[in-house]
Amino acid sequence: MSNEANSRTAATPPAGAPPAGDETARREGTEVAEFTSGQRADVIIIGGGIGGLSTAVNLTQAGLRVKVYERQRAFGEVGAGMQIASNCTRILDQMGLLEEAKRLGVLPERMVMRDALDARALLTLDLRKVEERYGYPYMVIHRSDLHGVFLRAAQALGVELHGGVRCVDYATTAVGARVTFDDGSSDEADVVIAADGLHSIARKLLVDDEPVNSAYVAYRGAVPIDQARDNGIDEQAVQVYIGPGCHFVQYGLRAGEMFNQVAVFESPKALAGEEDWGTPDELDAAFTGTCAAVQKGLPLMWRDRWWRMFDRNPIMTWVTGRIALLGDAAHPPLQYMAQGAIMAIEDGWVLGQHVRRQRDASGAVDWDAVLTAYDAVRPEHCRRILQTGRVWGELWHLHNEERLQRNAVLDTIDPHDWAFTDWVWGPTALVPEEEPEMFVPIPLASGRTAQPVAG
Ligand SMILES: Cc1cc2nc3c(=O)[nH]c(=O)nc-3n(C[C@H](O)[C@H](O)[C@H](O)COP(=O)(O)OP(=O)(O)OC[C@H]3O[C@@H](n4cnc5c(N)ncnc54)[C@H](O)[C@@H]3O)c2cc1C
Repeated sequence: MSNEANSRTAATPPAGAPPAGDETARREGTEVAEFTSGQRADVIIIGGGIGGLSTAVNLTQAGLRVKVYERQRAFGEVGAGMQIASNCTRILDQMGLLEEAKRLGVLPERMVMRDALDARALLTLDLRKVEERYGYPYMVIHRSDLHGVFLRAAQALGVELHGGVRCVDYATTAVGARVTFDDGSSDEADVVIAADGLHSIARKLLVDDEPVNSAYVAYRGAVPIDQARDNGIDEQAVQVYIGPGCHFVQYGLRAGEMFNQVAVFESPKALAGEEDWGTPDELDAAFTGTCAAVQKGLPLMWRDRWWRMFDRNPIMTWVTGRIALLGDAAHPPLQYMAQGAIMAIEDGWVLGQHVRRQRDASGAVDWDAVLTAYDAVRPEHCRRILQTGRVWGELWHLHNEERLQRNAVLDTIDPHDWAFTDWVWGPTALVPEEEPEMFVPIPLASGRTAQPVAG
């Protein structure tokens, strides 16, 4: 760990006003007390989302001095629930945070995929068997609660957290990397990690690309469970209703006291190239003809905020000099695999493990070796998730005859054929040789249908 004094040239960050409009709606945040050690950090992390904070915890646990700079004044999260599979609960356990997360979350007993038009169950997975198979549970949790777990851990470990500071530039220097902020100040460390999300400015150092618009939009809603109990819900399940151009997800949150729903649909206005797309009138139209359980759930969605869904094409290099991308900055997915935040947490854990492997007796870290190892293993894993997520989403949203073929294929699948999940829910690979084989896809045409086409 470096003790060299070298802090930001402007001692305290400016009081940054939160961005206007959508960005702050439905945001739960905590303003952290400003604490400046005055010492040079080993690692600077830009972005205090789940990726940035979990990485700060991992690297501090590995013995490093870490600073996090977040553009929002309060550290927090927007949105409602998230699913955390066993590849992530394993890491939470290693970080010593699983029990706290379990107290805040829910361990559902099953995952049920249903047809959104006729409500027929297509696939039922006993989630208790996930823990038997992988040693760690499948969990659902409010994203603010998971973010809070990392925030408290970071504070307890002495991570320097700076809110209301926007990074505007990154540069590799002779001895590390430098970030510059919108007030003209700057800071330096051995390494800078850019965990600055979908619209990462650091990513431009590696690739000249843009987010890819899926034309799908997500509505969320988390309400007290009493508001949903009469809707024919299954409080012990993650239920996913898949339908033509739409899907609807339901599960319990906060030890079962809340109920989370996500409604996702393809926007005709987006497809037509209109600016104002994904609006509530499109939500209502998209779910016309869906089953009673979905219809009853729709009035509980928040209508003042919606999430247009973008991903980016995978890139296979995330490191330039002493700057590394992490989380959505490196691999923003469509959310159909429910692995976006998990991939970010895995990224930070992998970095932490390689730091432990590459420290000499004096405590010096061979950063070139750490970043090379990170770049060798993570991009390929995340490429697989991103590409599978796109295909999985297409499969969920099929229309007409293809929908029936899809249902027929799902009918034939053994939900406990672990080939479909080992490659993602098993242990996180630290080196490419540990990355498991992927499953063999089943052709849609193999699904034989005998029913009339209904939707
Ligand atoms: C509808 C939906 C459902 C999802 N469900 C799941 C799920 O079930 N499971 C799952 O694992 N994932 C899920 N995801 C994906 C997951 O939410 C994201 O992949 C994850 O939150 C990314 O975390 P991050 O920290 O990399 O990025 P972000 O959460 O985007 O955080 C980036 C942070 O950087 C800050 N920042 C940005 N620019 C700057 C700057 N210039 N200077 C300083 N700070 C900056 C931002 O304010 C923000 O706090 C879902 C996503 C959606 C949209």
